[in-house]
Amino acid sequence: MNKMIEWDFLLNFTEQVSFLGRKHKEVPPIHHVEVFESFFNENGEIKKDELSKRDGKFTRREIITRYLLVNVVLDQGPDIIGVRNLIKDVTTELYRQEIRIFHRPLDFFKELGISIDEILAIHEKIKKSRASLWAKQNKTQTTKYNLFFAQSLRGIISINQVLDYAIHRWGVPLCVPLLLERDLEKENKISEEPLVDYIESFDYAETMANQLKNHERYGLGSAIGDKACHLFVKMYISRFNLVRKNSPGWNDLSYELPFDSNAGRVLFRTGFLLNLVTKDHLKQWEIIREGTGKRGTNYLRITNLRNKTINIFDEQKVKYYKEFFKKHFGKRFQKVKLQHIPNILLYQLLEDRGIHFSVADFDDGLIYIGTKFCLNHDHPKCDQCPVNSICMGYNQDKSLITDYTT
Ligand code: SF4
Repeated sequence: MNKMIEWDFLLNFTEQVSFLGRKHKEVPPIHHVEVFESFFNENGEIKKDELSKRDGKFTRREIITRYLLVNVVLDQGPDIIGVRNLIKDVTTELYRQEIRIFHRPLDFFKELGISIDEILAIHEKIKKSRASLWAKQNKTQTTKYNLFFAQSLRGIISINQVLDYAIHRWGVPLCVPLLLERDLEKENKISEEPLVDYIESFDYAETMANQLKNHERYGLGSAIGDKACHLFVKMYISRFNLVRKNSPGWNDLSYELPFDSNAGRVLFRTGFLLNLVTKDHLKQWEIIREGTGKRGTNYLRITNLRNKTINIFDEQKVKYYKEFFKKHFGKRFQKVKLQHIPNILLYQLLEDRGIHFSVADFDDGLIYIGTKFCLNHDHPKCDQCPVNSICMGYNQDKSLITDYTT
């Protein structure tokens, strides 16, 4: 897979997008969950020096970590804002009824009837307030607005069965801290941060991201995807500063970009991906699925991008790649994988230009562009887009915009 890569374009793009991301952070509104309001200051920022303070049996850090785990599992489907409001409002309503699901996960199951009623009622409320705006932005019908989902062979699909959604998507991540607590009890041990202890038992954040899904006892399995695992690490390390460890394996560069559909659409249309690989590569890897998207467009299945190897033919980049990999992922250099290119570019920005941006900054920049300008149809708001001067789709090849959807 050989291709001449314009590294300067990639570096400038990464810097510009990360700058936007730092200004427009994508953070779930946990500070608006009634019972957690005191954990945050008046600007909505977490009170970092009070994270170890107890809130009942557990620390604030532990409770927020539990919330984030459920949040990233739910964070799928068409409308990020709607999903985040759903978990925020359901949590607030359940806690008002003393169903303290993050302090006592069993409450969710003991009061399953109430949990399900609240999920249904709040979903309906959010649908009423968001469906028409969402449908307009995405050029679709309001009736298609649905935040309940399941994994299928074709990817994420909408479902109507609230029980499946509640047990599989809320229940499984709530059971992880519950099982950790039970396992500690068997050994007559107790912890005020059982989930945090488990998460930080791994030497590298990237190992933890993998084990979040795959661990034999505590892994979430099919309830979580690679994107959500990396979204969790991004929130845990870079957006909520929950991490206790102080090491290169647990910092702002030490996890992969989550690659959601918004980020993927922007990376494709702007030419970022096509600077690294050709359309033929993308078709061969089934990242481009011809004619299977909306209105007969080509569908971009961005999750297929993981673990695709590429040649980069640049000694300096290979050197950076080796250094980065050892330091931040704790692994020996093998082959260059497509999903690691943003990490290498961010590492190079730091090493060469002394500019520090996190993976979260780059991701938030992509999400900002993808949700505000680069909408998932053939007439995105290119005229107002902050990266239109360097966008391949806008300046050179309009078919990248009109013929592809995510
Ligand atoms: S200029 Fe248009 S196609 Fe390019 S990223 Fe912006 S909105 Fe998307």
